[in-house]
Amino acid sequence: MLSDHRVLVTGGAGFIGAHLCKRLLERGDEVLCVDNFYTGTRRNVQHLLDNRLFELMRHDICFSLYVEVQEIFNLACPASPIHYQFDPVQTTKVSVHGAINMLGLAKRVKAKILQASTSEVYGDPSVHPQQESYWGNVNPIGPRSCYDEGKRCAETLFFDYHRQHGLPVKVARIFNTYGPGMHPHDGRVVSNFIVQALSNQDITIYGEGNQTRSFCYVDDLVEGLIRLMDTSPDVTGPVNLGNPAEFTIRELAELVINLTGSSSRMIFRPLPQDDPRQRCPDISKARELLDWKPTIALREGLVKTINYFDQLLTSDKTGASPAILRSVRAEGKALSGQ
Ligand code: NAD
Ligand code: UDP
Ligand code: UDP
Repeated sequence: MLSDHRVLVTGGAGFIGAHLCKRLLERGDEVLCVDNFYTGTRRNVQHLLDNRLFELMRHDICFSLYVEVQEIFNLACPASPIHYQFDPVQTTKVSVHGAINMLGLAKRVKAKILQASTSEVYGDPSVHPQQESYWGNVNPIGPRSCYDEGKRCAETLFFDYHRQHGLPVKVARIFNTYGPGMHPHDGRVVSNFIVQALSNQDITIYGEGNQTRSFCYVDDLVEGLIRLMDTSPDVTGPVNLGNPAEFTIRELAELVINLTGSSSRMIFRPLPQDDPRQRCPDISKARELLDWKPTIALREGLVKTINYFDQLLTSDKTGASPAILRSVRAEGKALSGQ
């Protein structure tokens, strides 16, 4: 063993995972990144491959995994609505079977395990802002349910392994996160708007753009995940991690147009089914238990993200599974009416 601290990051070649792997390596951890490249890419971790503390393994966590580690960050799961609805059965499988396998692994090797849960467990919330004590308003049979219910079931499994087997668990409820490293065809609002603005295409607002989201810069989020993992075993969560500054989607579009100086115009497309009308985290728990709060405001984070996409788009370095890209392009065309 190279270091005395070996950490498994599932979904480590994804957007958040790649940032997390980098941060863990910087503090001297040995990192085992496990990913099946469903939405993530080898390119996301290319810059880490020369680090002797880093190991990349292609593996689908729906199947068992026998490795020796002290900590597990379980991030493997497509996160963008377009991606997780592409093969919804697979989304539930990775959320549930994947969680069981990673919990079984944690139990065998006595590792601490953190689950990347989501604000989607609150569904279309009737309580605002959302506190961890709120049980949510989730449609169990809609197009988002594969993700929402999959993640809710994963939380159940985490707390049952904790109660039944005494496993040290941590559950982070992550709110919308953005930043450099997002896939340009990811389909999420921040990447869509920036890519559209930079290429002077129409900005596709779904619905009237009055729905709200709260956007957290990826570095802040990763800091929160690491603090949660490092804190006392009594702190299991769930803990909300997100930026409590709330914006309408129309405000986001205006800000992106303003920061890019784009000539894009806003066009309005149908709101997808069950799209949450409002979302904003109450982060009192994270402040109190982790001494954590976001430090990067939306404007500052968007500038960094715009610079990243500006460079990326001129070099055409994309690369997700071709089937997903076909689906994303088709969806994009349908939604923008092209
Ligand atoms: P992402 O799609 O970029 O990354 C997910 C990674 O998981 C990809 O690299 C993908 O290839 C991998 N993966 C998928 N299925 C797998 C499987 N069966 N086995 C192994 N690897 C698999 O998404 P992200 O934004 O980096 O999200 C990471 C995690 O954080 C997800 O669990 C997501 O639900 C959660 N989350 C993200 C956000 C956000 O705004 N980005 C918000 C809430 C929760
Ligand atoms: N598992 C794994 N790696 C391990 C140990 C277990 O992938 O090191 C998987 C294995 O597939 C198992 C699952 O985790 O089915 C749940 O394990 P657990 O011990 O909780 O239950 P059981 O083995 O009794 O099903
Ligand atoms: N959205 C939009 N235009 C886009 C992509 C998304 O108006 O091109 C909206 C979407 O309907 C939702 C919000 O932006 O209300 C956030 O969408 P995203 O897919 O980023 O994440 P969600 O929070 O819905 O999981």
